[in-house]
This record gives sequence, C-alpha cells and structure tokens, in this order.
Amino acid sequence: MSLQTEEIYRTLLLYSADAVIVTDCAGTITTTNPSFAKLVGAAVDELIGTSLANLVVADWEHSEEKTITSNNGTNADEDAESTGDTQAVTILSRTGSELIMPAARFPLFNQKSGKPDGHLTIIYVIQANSLQQAQTEFVSTVSHELRTPLTSIKGFADTILRAGDRLDSSQQRRYVGIIKDQADRLTRLVEDLLAVSRLESKKLQLTIRALDLKEAIERVQQNLADKAKKHTVILQIPPGLTPVWADADRLEQILTNLIDNAIKYSQAGTTVTITAKGIQDTPEMVEFSVCDQGVGIPEEHLPQVFSKFGRLDNPLVRQTEGTGLGLYITRSLVLALGGQITVESVPGSTTFTVKLPAATPEQQAARGRG
Ligand code: ADP
Repeated sequence: MSLQTEEIYRTLLLYSADAVIVTDCAGTITTTNPSFAKLVGAAVDELIGTSLANLVVADWEHSEEKTITSNNGTNADEDAESTGDTQAVTILSRTGSELIMPAARFPLFNQKSGKPDGHLTIIYVIQANSLQQAQTEFVSTVSHELRTPLTSIKGFADTILRAGDRLDSSQQRRYVGIIKDQADRLTRLVEDLLAVSRLESKKLQLTIRALDLKEAIERVQQNLADKAKKHTVILQIPPGLTPVWADADRLEQILTNLIDNAIKYSQAGTTVTITAKGIQDTPEMVEFSVCDQGVGIPEEHLPQVFSKFGRLDNPLVRQTEGTGLGLYITRSLVLALGGQITVESVPGSTTFTVKLPAATPEQQAARGRG
C-alpha cells in the first residue's frame, strides 16, 4: 500500500462517523476508531486487546448461514432482502445502556497465505441516528393526531356527565354525535396506521388475479355514491379494455382513496372524471386517472402529498376529515402491485394517474396453463 493510500485509510478511520472495528480470528479488537470508542464510552487505546463480543452482541453465524442458503437458490430474493449483509446488533456501553444499531461484518484474509485473518465490522451510526429521528418524529405526530379526537371525546363526555339533566335532548344528541364522529376518526386513524405498519413490515399478502378495471371502478363509484351526491362523476372507459394484474381489495382501496379525495377536495357542483385506457407506447401497462375540478395542489407541495401525514393547509382541507395517510398508503400499494402513480395539478384541476401491469389474453392463457 502506498503511503498516500495508507494516509487516506487512516483519515477515513479517524474521522468516520460510522464505527469501524477490526478483530483477529479470536474476536480480539486489533484496530478501531473514535466513533466506536464514543459509542461504548471508552478510549480507543483501552479497547485494543479486548474481546468485541463483550461490547457488541450479534448473531453473525446465523446471518452468514442464511446468506449461504440464499446462494444455493432457495428463496434467494426474500432472504437477501430480509437479512442482507446488515443485521441489528446490540452495543453494550460502559455506562450500562444498550443501543441497537445496524451493522455488517466482512471476513478478512491474509494477503500472503489467503487464510482467514479476522473480521472488519462496521456499525452504521449515521443510518441508526436518522432511523431513530424518523421514529421519534413519527411517534410524536401519531400522538398528536390521536390526542386531538381524544380531547374532544373527553371534553364532550365530561360536559354530558356534569351538566346531565340541564342539557335538553337536542344538545345531548349533538354532543353524543360529536363523540361518535371523533370515535370514527380515531378508528380510521388506527386502521390507516395498521395499514402503514403492514406495508412497512412487508407483511402484505397479495392475491394477484386478472381484474376488470371497469367493474372495480363502478363498484367503488357505487360505494361512494352518498359522498358524491353533490358532484357529477363521469366514467370514460373504452369497451374491451385489457384487464389488470392486481389484488382486488388493494385495487379497490387505491380507487377509493383517489376518488374520495377528488370529491373531498373539490367544491359541490363540480365534476370528477375517471378515465381508463391502454397505453400505446407501453402495452404491458394499463392506466387510469382520477381528475377533479377542485382546489388543486401547489407545485412545490406535490411531493409532500405522498408522505406520511402530508396534509396541506387550505380551507377545504381544514373542513374535511382526513388522516394524511391515504396517499402514502395508495402509493405503497401501487408500488407493491408493480405499478406507478403520478400527480399533475393546476389551480382548478388535479389529476392522479395510476399505471398497473396489463393482463393480456396471452399472459392469462399462460398463467392458466402454468
Ligand atoms: P387525507 O385526505 O386523509 O388528508 P391523503 O394522504 O389522502 O390524506 O392526502 C394528503 C393531502 O393531499 C390532503 O390532505 C390534501 O391536502 C392533498 N390532496 C390529496 N388529494 C387531493 C386532490 N384531489 N386535490 C387537492 N388536494 C389533494
């Protein structure tokens, strides 16, 4: 190794925010950096010569075994994704606290003999910190979202209990009505949070079949008929449209979220147009779009609508019920089905377009035979 390369490695090790540890074949630390020393609450010099297993609890053998299994061809993709080279390890600091962080271990070989010479372990501190931050923000937003309806439920229940007979029956009905609306809001929020958790933990079970898009759109249109009483809903679907490969419940959920939003975020008396068609350039996909004549989304806020709790501030949003999780869930479902979702908006018109894999007659026949 040239002197300059050595200098580069030394600087990288010294200033890396991630913790780096080199151990010999017995698991004794031979080299480490200040980032690891800070994690465990010791000086670098104190750590040299000590056993890494006393500071980092990991299940390397198990994870390496799995990597070998996946190389043998069983469930290769799934294994690679669920274990990867990274695993969660527990760091035992000298102050007695425990930290869980992602880490990876790489075997080292003697340059001359080619024999195993120990391991290089990296603990991904930056990644762990940003995950931790995202989790803290999520918990704080969820708590806030839960507290709002709970405060209202508690307040009105207290009033009914305290004022009792002094409230006339119409007041009582109004207060109980508010309690029910807020309980419904809580239920929706919990259901959306469970959907998010299922999506993020990759526990989503999909039953993919060839589905008629027109039938699915008409079913959702019927389910939402009550909400759409003050709107005109137009369907533009050509006859003989190629079906899509999708899961029936998830497709319904995607359509429901988009059509419900189009109604919610546009004034009474306006039109919502649902169009479906094949795509000339990409015959392997079918697209549908939901277009409204509503408040629109400012261009700079377009990416925000797909993020968790991404509610924009405008009068119609303030008037309507929503968790801000609908489009996050919708986009995750579209991606899980192998599709794409895009949005275009100008004041007075918003269009969400979804592309899903087409179930061509040849593919369906092939599946039928398979
Ligand atoms: P929710 O409707 O529960 O607030 P969503 O995730 O479905 O949550 O939507 C996120 C935000 O995106 C909404 O709060 C609203 O500000 C904006 N939005 C969604 N659809 C539309 C639309 N069709 N027109 C205008 N704004 C929309």
